[in-house]
Order: sequence, then structure tokens, then C-alpha cells
Amino acid sequence: MARAALIAGNWKMNGLAASLSEIEAVASGLSARPNAPEALICPPATLLERAVASAQGTGLAIGGQDCHADASGAHTGDVSAEMLRDAGATAVIAGHSERRAAYAESDAAVRAKIAGAWRAGLTAVLCVGETLEQRESGMASEVVAAQLDASLPASVDPARLEIAYEPVWAIGTGKSAASADIANMHAHLRSCLRARADGKDAASVRLLYGGSVKPATVAEIVSLGDVDGALVGGASLKATDFLAMLDAVAALGHA
Ligand code: PEP
Repeated sequence: MARAALIAGNWKMNGLAASLSEIEAVASGLSARPNAPEALICPPATLLERAVASAQGTGLAIGGQDCHADASGAHTGDVSAEMLRDAGATAVIAGHSERRAAYAESDAAVRAKIAGAWRAGLTAVLCVGETLEQRESGMASEVVAAQLDASLPASVDPARLEIAYEPVWAIGTGKSAASADIANMHAHLRSCLRARADGKDAASVRLLYGGSVKPATVAEIVSLGDVDGALVGGASLKATDFLAMLDAVAALGHA
């Protein structure tokens, strides 16, 4: 089944009001690129509403980086999926390895966040990935399959789900996984999705790769089987880099 390519940017805890010019540049660049792949940028929550305004009518989607599982309540400092939606977001990242590590987010917590995202009408971008130790001990496939299984609600909404395979050791290190390993893991993820009870929908879920993707590497990665796009951190902060990645993927003819 043909899946449109997606390049998603995760700004992490970066960006002040001045950075909105990067969103504006991506948004206007996207308008001038009718064959570009789909594009999503997840700025920090403080910039969300202004980023949405900057991207209005251009095809650039804006998302959150995390959400609380509940719609509202006594959760000081947290933001719900409903709040993200209210600010104009259409998607939210769930289970990024930085949050799993820094806040001990369990698969069960990630699963509840995804349910919250769907309740609010957002697309969930679920992140899974092994540590270097797990890869070196030959456990990568098992670890990622277990994360996938435990992080997904029992009933999957395939139209509102993207899965990002992000080996932890490749994030922010400048060192992407080898192409063969990316292709193997994506094929594995696809077969894990197929094996679930709702496997009939497995073909429509986009699988993204994340981990030090940049303009020079994105085309090779997205041309691999079962790789439908990329989740990009550092190289998503500058509009010139982000647009260069859109151009490189558009040239593959997947968009
Ligand atoms: C990420 O934060 O999801 C990520 C992949 O970061 P980077 O591209 O900087 O490795």
C-alpha cells in the first residue's frame, strides 16, 4: 500500500519567539513545493499556538512533544492532549526515549498518553528504540517488539498512528544506524503490527526512522523498504536543513 512520506521535526527544549521565523520559512517553502512530502514540526509548548498561526493554510502541521494521559486535572506543569488540540496541534509525540529515560516513563504510561491523544483527536507518534547495550547484546528486535506491544492501546487507530524507530544510541550523536539495520527493524515492526489482532490495518501505519538524520542522509534512509519518513531532532531546527530534507525526499518520488 502506498504511504505518503512524512518528515517530522522534534525541536525538543529549543526555541524562543525569534525561532518562529524558521517555522514561517518552512511553511512558505512548503507552499512553494507542491510535491513535498508531508511535514510536521513539534516545537516547545510555549510556541505551539504561534507556530500554528505561522503555518496556517500552508500544509505544515504542528504537534506537541508530549502530553498527559488525562484531559484535565491536578497535574501541575503538565499539558493534556486536549490542550494541545485546543492550541491547534494535530499530532503529539509519545514515549520519546529522552522522556522514557529522564522521567521513567513506562510503556503503560506511554499507552495511556496515546489513548489520550486519540481521545483528543490527535495523531500519536509513538517512539520505540533500543539502547546500545541492548543492541550489542543482540536484543534489539525483542526490546523494540516488546515496547511496541506494551505501548499501544489494545485497539489501534491506524489513521492516527505513526511509529518512529529511534535507536537511543543514534539520537543526537551524529551516528545513524546502518541502513541494513534500519530496514530490518522496520520490516520487523511491520510484521509485529501485522501480528496484532488489528493487523489488517498494519499496512497503513507509517514507520519513521529517527536518529541523527540530516539532509545528506535522509534520502538513503527514506528509500529503504518500510521506511515512510523520518523523525528529526537537531536538523529540524533550521528551515534550510528542514527544507533540504523535504527536497531530498520529494526527489525519491514517494511524496
Ligand atoms: C529525536 O530527538 O527524536 C532525534 C531523532 O534527534 P536527532 O535527529 O537530533 O538525533
